[in-house]
Order: sequence, then structure tokens, then C-alpha cells
Amino acid sequence: MKTSSLYHKNCRECGQYFEARRLNQFYCQAKCKNRANNRKARESDWQNQYVKSITASLNQILWRNRILLQQYLDEEVALAELKEEGFQLNHITHFTSADTKKGNIFFCYDFGYYFINENYIKIIQS
Ligand SMILES: [Zn+2]
Repeated sequence: MKTSSLYHKNCRECGQYFEARRLNQFYCQAKCKNRANNRKARESDWQNQYVKSITASLNQILWRNRILLQQYLDEEVALAELKEEGFQLNHITHFTSADTKKGNIFFCYDFGYYFINENYIKIIQS
């Protein structure tokens, strides 16, 4: 509602009633606006840190996998040996199922592998 060119509102920060000059004015005073903005910045900073820590540890695993695949490029490798060296089978960047003869090809970035049998994989580069 609007009377005499003022909007009757409650401050989003402190909850106090105030009369806004503009419809998109949400805070009763600069102090409340700053307080709200600072909190939003802190929250988004915390979220960024959280996302960064998750992606950093996943990237580390994927990168380790890629290095191992690169080391054994074009070879047929026993999965058990690769795992012993730190390879984590459940971490890939993408996969393709285009090749019906080889089945799914699982990639860690530009290096990939497909199963020859349940114990051996063949490593390829994309
Ligand atoms: Zn306020």
C-alpha cells in the first residue's frame, strides 16, 4: 500500500516498521543494509570455501588417475596393480559408450580406459 508517496514496510534486517521512499527499499537505514550485505558476503564466502575444498580433493583424485593412465598408455594393465598405485576406479571425468566393441570407455580428462575383462583394462588417449 502507498500513502502520500511513501511505502509502509518492515525492515528486512531489524524488522522495524519504516516508511520507504522507493518500492525497492528494504532496509530502514544504511546500518541495516550494510549489516545484511556483510552477512550475505560472509555466507557466500563460506559456501565458496566449501565448494573449493570439495572440488580440490576431487581434482586431486582425478589428476592422480590421469597421471597413472598416462604412465600406462596403450598398455593392458591389471586393475589390482593400478589400484595399488592409488588409482580410484570410481572417479572419472566422463565416459563414452559409442564403441560397441570396447564397451564403455571411461575417461580422466584426456586419458581413458575400457575393460578387457573384469581384471584388466586397456588404456587409451582420446
Ligand atoms: Zn532496520
